[in-house]
Amino acid sequence: MKTLVYIASTGYSGSTLLESILGSNPRFLNLGEIYKLSYWPVCSCGEKVADCAFWRELERRLQQRPGAASSRLQDWHIQGRRSRARWQRLLHDAFIAIGGPESLGLFKLLSTEVRSFSEGCERALKLFETAAAMTGASVIVDSSKDPLLLKHLYALAPDKLRVIHLVRDARAVSHSFVKNFKRDGTAYVAEDSGAQPTLAQAAEYWKDRNRKIGIASWHIPPDQRLFIRYEDLCLKREDSAAALSRFIGEEIVIPETIHLKQQHTIAGNPMRQTETSIQVRLTEDWQDKLGGEDIAQIAKITGCSW
Ligand SMILES: [Zn+2]
Repeated sequence: MKTLVYIASTGYSGSTLLESILGSNPRFLNLGEIYKLSYWPVCSCGEKVADCAFWRELERRLQQRPGAASSRLQDWHIQGRRSRARWQRLLHDAFIAIGGPESLGLFKLLSTEVRSFSEGCERALKLFETAAAMTGASVIVDSSKDPLLLKHLYALAPDKLRVIHLVRDARAVSHSFVKNFKRDGTAYVAEDSGAQPTLAQAAEYWKDRNRKIGIASWHIPPDQRLFIRYEDLCLKREDSAAALSRFIGEEIVIPETIHLKQQHTIAGNPMRQTETSIQVRLTEDWQDKLGGEDIAQIAKITGCSW
């Protein structure tokens, strides 16, 4: 593995589209939202993860690694969620804000949560190396989106990581969270209350997540970070492909149609399970659904102006 590309974004920002674009290029291997490996049941190819030939072969190779920590594929990334203990969360947040390769050891001593996440990401890096060797890919694409994991991966592999901060219009994202709640159960935006999020909560989440991505990546060298807008990805395909190629150091093409079933990924947009291909084009139904007051509210919360 020469390079690890990490896509950081909110939900509904087009990360599944971007990971699929990258994964459709030779030398790239897209693994999707790989941090969900411990519990995700079905590969994007349609097979159960336990039955998919790709994941079975990867598991077999992981078992053969010298000193393999585990024989189960599901154990090769983080396990579980963040701690409920306030001070553990504070220490972990401090690591995300100011930590890095030099201070990782200290934060691991201070916080069991930092240690647990770091060890999970260490296993993930071994999984990435094994997957790269298995497929001949030189670039692994991790579309986990979360700023926390981005910082851990940087601390462990500072020279290999390239971060793409993908941002989509706050109006489109906020509308998607409300609209797709029943289908996707994205209750975390409404603080896990189980209720459908409001537009205001979704806009707050958009602002907070993008701010946290900025905080987690501010001291990563500028040539290892790329900011890209979802809308440009769809509307300016050639320019976006050139920017991505320069950034990653591999030639990238953005085709009009991407064949999803040729990739084996974890999680991502539910369309991965139902569609065999996607078109790279902008779909903006929020324009017909949001009124002037809705847009004014989102603008006030996010600080965006349109
Ligand atoms: Zn598969």
